[in-house]
Amino acid sequence: MSEFSTVFPRGGENTAYAQYFTGTSYLNMLSTEQLSIGNVTFEPGCRNNWHVHHADKGGGQILLCTGGRGWYQEWGSPARELLPGDVVNIPPEVKHWHGAAKDSWFAHLAVEVPGEGARNEWLEPVGDEEYNKL
Ligand code: MN
Repeated sequence: MSEFSTVFPRGGENTAYAQYFTGTSYLNMLSTEQLSIGNVTFEPGCRNNWHVHHADKGGGQILLCTGGRGWYQEWGSPARELLPGDVVNIPPEVKHWHGAAKDSWFAHLAVEVPGEGARNEWLEPVGDEEYNKL
């Protein structure tokens, strides 16, 4: 197993959400008070399923990229390459996925923007054919 990590401890395998990921990821909750902030680390080729951060008011997610190289893609748009220092503002109700490049580990902090009725909807995996074109 690689020792890839950032300034934030990597934490253990992300078993709680493994069913919504392709490949192995790691999750370390850095903050569970005031604002939920998780350090998510993806092994090469690992990505989460298409998903939507729903909310009746407010909500969404902010990704703060901390290590490696990865991708963010909104439904119907080209994928955006992510490198350390990049920030992604994900509005509520936008279908998207995020994860590592196929040849690189990737880590981001996931900041959950508070919202009324905030909830995540997990959808289909990002297909290999689509992913491997990146
Ligand atoms: Mn997301």
